[in-house]
Amino acid sequence: MAISVNGTIPGGRIEVVDATRPDDIQLRFVPDPHCAFMGRFNFRITGARGVACRFRILNAGDTLANRLAGREDVENAFTRTGPVASYDRSTWFRLPSSFDGQVYGFEHTPDFDVCHYAQWAPYSMDRHLDMVARAQLSPRVRVRSIGRSVLGADIDLMTLGEDGAGRRKLWIIAGQHPSETQSGFFLEGFLDRMLDAHDPTARRILDQAVVYVVPTLNPDGLMHGWTRSNALGVNLNREWVSPSAERSPEVLCVRDLMEATGVDFCLDGHADEELRCNFLGGPLEIPSRSARLTGLFTRFEKLWAAASPEYERGHPYPGGAPAEADLRMAWNWIAERFDCLSVLLEQPFKDTSWWQDPVQGWSPERSRRFGETLPTALAGILPHLR
Ligand SMILES: [Zn+2]
Repeated sequence: MAISVNGTIPGGRIEVVDATRPDDIQLRFVPDPHCAFMGRFNFRITGARGVACRFRILNAGDTLANRLAGREDVENAFTRTGPVASYDRSTWFRLPSSFDGQVYGFEHTPDFDVCHYAQWAPYSMDRHLDMVARAQLSPRVRVRSIGRSVLGADIDLMTLGEDGAGRRKLWIIAGQHPSETQSGFFLEGFLDRMLDAHDPTARRILDQAVVYVVPTLNPDGLMHGWTRSNALGVNLNREWVSPSAERSPEVLCVRDLMEATGVDFCLDGHADEELRCNFLGGPLEIPSRSARLTGLFTRFEKLWAAASPEYERGHPYPGGAPAEADLRMAWNWIAERFDCLSVLLEQPFKDTSWWQDPVQGWSPERSRRFGETLPTALAGILPHLR
């Protein structure tokens, strides 16, 4: 029986160069539309039960040209980490891999007829819709569409609790970069806790604050399996100074609503292919940086580290802190505009340096548990935000 290797699945992404021989399956990353970003892969193989398969992604080294500045001495995304694989699309396990500077390779003999492979566990648009649909069943949640993506998908906003005088406005946004699917699982954990009527921490937060959640800022990218861009090749996390209805409507609608409601806290969810930790960026380099914001950030870090061993303080950002923040990035622009505690969360693709799970690495299960701990840190920082 011949094997079939196929990236034409929802959210799938890979170019199959040659799959005629299972021991020499040649693949290529496919760039996002109208730009050079690439690195995400998500495909399935059928007819391979018991067949020794060897996969090679031939242009992996080309992605290194798009690395962030200051990363020259950092372990690249393909070293000491394997892809994830799954038979049931629910549990994802790691495979060993190799990288010679250009070709990223891995070998696997599937136990079943169908096996899925990906850079990290996919989070589908269907699962996003499930998350929103499920959340609205809580009396604490209202859902509305605040705008449309370039291709016309809704930008969903979930409002947890009630706005009102004296209530802090807490924002959680995620999914600007569609390959960073960790945020979806993280938000599921966060919502589980915030919508649990028996959870005293959630009750305390919603007594004092309203929480705005934009779970998926780039639904087009999620649906099509892109890495970092929207349908026009725009990196949304460089659009916050001057978003436009033509280039970046996904950002514009969120920014407009922030201007209307105000922001006392914001967390922007991302993931980093190279780091081996959960990392928080703070409002430390914005033009109006202050001892107040620095103190708030340090306090928030301590609160989260106390709430979860998955957050470790003391991981410096590779390349050092910039002299001046890039205000085109959401977390910096929000901190500068609203003089508030605004943080960037980077979850790992690899595994954490403090503890390793040899079977799964950093996994959807751990991401979800980590999301469950954010309310504890939020409740602790809430009285100090203003
Ligand atoms: Zn990102």
